[in-house]
Amino acid sequence: MDNARRLFHLCFMTKRTDILIIGGGLNGATLALALASGGFTVTLIDGRPREIRADPAFDGRSYALAHASCAMLRALGLWEGLRDLAQPILDIKVSDGRAGEGPSPFVLEFDHAEIEEGPMGHMVEDRHLRPHLLDALDATPGITALSGRSVTAQSVDDRGVSVTLDDGSACRAALLIGCDGRNSGTARRAGIRYTGWSYGQTALVTAIAHGQPHNGIAHQFFMPEGPLAILPLRGNRCSIVWTESDADAARINPLPPEEYLAHLRPRFGDFLGDIALAGERFTYPLSLSLAQSMIAPRLALCGDAAHGMHPIAGQGLNAGLKDIAALAEVLTDAQRRGEDFGRSDVLERYQQWRRFDIASMALATDTFNRLFSNDNPLLRGLRDLGLGAVNALPRLRRGFIREAAGLTGDRPRLLEGRPL
Ligand SMILES: Cc1cc2nc3c(=O)[nH]c(=O)nc-3n(C[C@H](O)[C@H](O)[C@H](O)COP(=O)(O)OP(=O)(O)OC[C@H]3O[C@@H](n4cnc5c(N)ncnc54)[C@H](O)[C@@H]3O)c2cc1C
Repeated sequence: MDNARRLFHLCFMTKRTDILIIGGGLNGATLALALASGGFTVTLIDGRPREIRADPAFDGRSYALAHASCAMLRALGLWEGLRDLAQPILDIKVSDGRAGEGPSPFVLEFDHAEIEEGPMGHMVEDRHLRPHLLDALDATPGITALSGRSVTAQSVDDRGVSVTLDDGSACRAALLIGCDGRNSGTARRAGIRYTGWSYGQTALVTAIAHGQPHNGIAHQFFMPEGPLAILPLRGNRCSIVWTESDADAARINPLPPEEYLAHLRPRFGDFLGDIALAGERFTYPLSLSLAQSMIAPRLALCGDAAHGMHPIAGQGLNAGLKDIAALAEVLTDAQRRGEDFGRSDVLERYQQWRRFDIASMALATDTFNRLFSNDNPLLRGLRDLGLGAVNALPRLRRGFIREAAGLTGDRPRLLEGRPL
């Protein structure tokens, strides 16, 4: 492009909104909807075409969404379309196990009847959640969703931030938010580094049909190779998150269905009757990645771009939704006070609000995975004792239930189910 055309492009072809979000995954899409509800205009850019992301076979995960996350979706007008598809989580049972031996007798049980708010959360399938968010983006005034276009460059000046897309077009805003997942290019271009490591583990994920009803109970079996989560879905179905070493997962996942099930059955057990595959099979390599800063000049990070963690506690998306609730509240309040919402002191309020919770969650998931993913007899004895002890202490158990439901700490308005 010659200089005159570049200048023309910059002056007249640049799309301008209040806020630019890079990454239209679950977090980026929810953030755009939250910010629009606070009165901001938003441009949301995702590298993948919309029809690929809306395809039911795009992602096999189902998410354990905490009570507070569901309240936030309700406050944003998104829960109505999901409620009848979501499975309430009424009880969680945690135990040690070994393939072929069934769970150990030391079971830690979290029953929703111990809190007043109702179910601890709901299981929501990606194939329902993602298209629902994409439809909501299309229907919301103030949001421009650009799909199939990647960001290749970004630059910051005193008054705003500009990004260049791979088709040569440009966008400008007062603030840029990176929701572009692990290895975020937004963070890299801003010079933000990551701390983290690979776990050498891969999660095998699929839906399973079973003969007996699950009664809304989620199970977590700690196997020597890594945890196996059995998470209730609508009907006699569940979603499994089955952790194996990278090498074993690569060997097991492509096996014919009966051979895959032959590996799963001794781990799963027969407490739900006969099991069969009820969906496509997916794998997800597991790692920890923590951004060393959640902010930079005129830039903030949310969701996996800020913190990718082990799914052992099913908290990754819940943590991203907490980021969104906090950031949307900080920005909306700043805007209402007439402040420049892209300024560093405003963004610092967001980082202060979220940083401790994220560091504690990352430390907890990392420690649990190390403590439980092994067959060391001493550690096995200690964790059985630990599970039994927590189970015997109702106040501690109730504290854990409230934590898992997202009902603790200084909660932003959206997580309390209130509008911005
Ligand atoms: C097996 C497994 C089970 C899980 N279960 C749970 C659970 O039960 N509960 C829970 O709370 N969490 C769970 N999680 C965590 C949860 O899945 C993630 O935290 C969440 O999906 C992250 O979403 P995101 O939008 O931040 O990132 P991503 O999903 O990675 O989205 C990033 C988006 O950015 C786009 N992008 C990237 N680069 C560019 C670019 N340059 N330009 C434009 N677009 C770009 C990508 O196309 C993508 O759409 C689980 C995770 C795993 C692996």
